[in-house]
Amino acid sequence: MTRRTSSLASLAVHAGRGDLVGLGVHTMPIDLSTTYPLPSIEAGRDAYDRFAAGERPDPGTTSVYRRAWNPTVARFEDAMAALESFVPDADADAPPAEGVAFASGMAAISAVLLSRAAAGRPHVVAVRPLYGGTDALLASGLLGTEVSFVEVEDVGSAITDRTGLVLLETPSNPTLDLRDVAGVVARAGDVPVMVDNTFATPALQRPLTLGASFSVHSATKYIGGHGDAMGGVVVTTPEHARELRPVRTVTGGVMDPWTAYLLHRGLATLPVRLAAQQATAATVATWLAGHSAVARVRYPGLPGSDPEGLLGRQMSGPGAMVALELVGGFASAERTCAALRLITHAVSLGGVDTLVEHPAALTHRAVSADAQPGEGLLRLSIGLESADDLVDDLDHALRGA
Ligand SMILES: *Cc1c(COP(=O)(O)O)cnc(C)c1O
Repeated sequence: MTRRTSSLASLAVHAGRGDLVGLGVHTMPIDLSTTYPLPSIEAGRDAYDRFAAGERPDPGTTSVYRRAWNPTVARFEDAMAALESFVPDADADAPPAEGVAFASGMAAISAVLLSRAAAGRPHVVAVRPLYGGTDALLASGLLGTEVSFVEVEDVGSAITDRTGLVLLETPSNPTLDLRDVAGVVARAGDVPVMVDNTFATPALQRPLTLGASFSVHSATKYIGGHGDAMGGVVVTTPEHARELRPVRTVTGGVMDPWTAYLLHRGLATLPVRLAAQQATAATVATWLAGHSAVARVRYPGLPGSDPEGLLGRQMSGPGAMVALELVGGFASAERTCAALRLITHAVSLGGVDTLVEHPAALTHRAVSADAQPGEGLLRLSIGLESADDLVDDLDHALRGA
């Protein structure tokens, strides 16, 4: 049981830790067993049957084998489910939610695609832009997926009787577009909607409370928050979770317990990290918008960037990812990255230090030419450095741009 909390910040500190006092420990034990003693053949057989049906093991029974179940990973999953289904209003019902963790964000997304294909619905309606790996996976058809890339307005008309999933990101990677989740859910009708919530995190946005069926994360990013743990997690309805767990068990893309521990620990500071990073991002974005080397800043919090009024309604703040289009295009982006002295030139995001990368050349390299980000676009993940230091570094670098 999780302690009763009325704020997400409190929940982030306590979620998934309900059994610790009973165990007589203060932090999550890391269970490294790959196999578990069986009380009897019959008990083991019953556990296998439960896992094959996608069920969690009964409390107090054997976990059997790590690829099927691990208690350290399960605590992290429970914490993510609690955060993603949190509703601030004490009278409102939280949507039923369960977490299913994976070895990476791509393993999590792959498992959802496989589970929908296994249900006889391999067609995916996807709204671009998407993370380059997701876009390329869908376009390749590798997992038996058929994809239609459409604008939000065309989601409804793209759905056929083979459609098993509608997929979108908000804010999107790398252009930070906001999409109306409830609006997409309405257009999708009976088809489940998956939101990649990596950029917003449950600290700012909880897609299940807006009607989505899946909220998926690269936990490698903000959830862990320190650039030292790779993982993915899907938070979904209990019904879809029962479909996902057997896919995970047979394909083997499981999260390891050390990682689950680090990600669970990271959750405790997620709301304060993101609040600080977001405040700095707003300062940096506003400063960049006034710079002569910058043609356009993409940040949901800037005037004109949220035409549908989703900030405050769908997402509690604009987040800490910023993208900028340079007047001087690729050459200018190359010079800027080379001249930075504090900000690290590296892919990935969501950690405590500020990173910059060129999506068209790197994270979105595998996206088809017609959907590539611009050659002058740089993406910044704002960390916990002071805004003054970041502005100084960017000012210096952009001077030579
Ligand atoms: C990084 C990322 C992914 C992929 O996650 P991995 O943990 O690297 O596998 C998926 N979606 C988004 C939005 C990402 O930024």
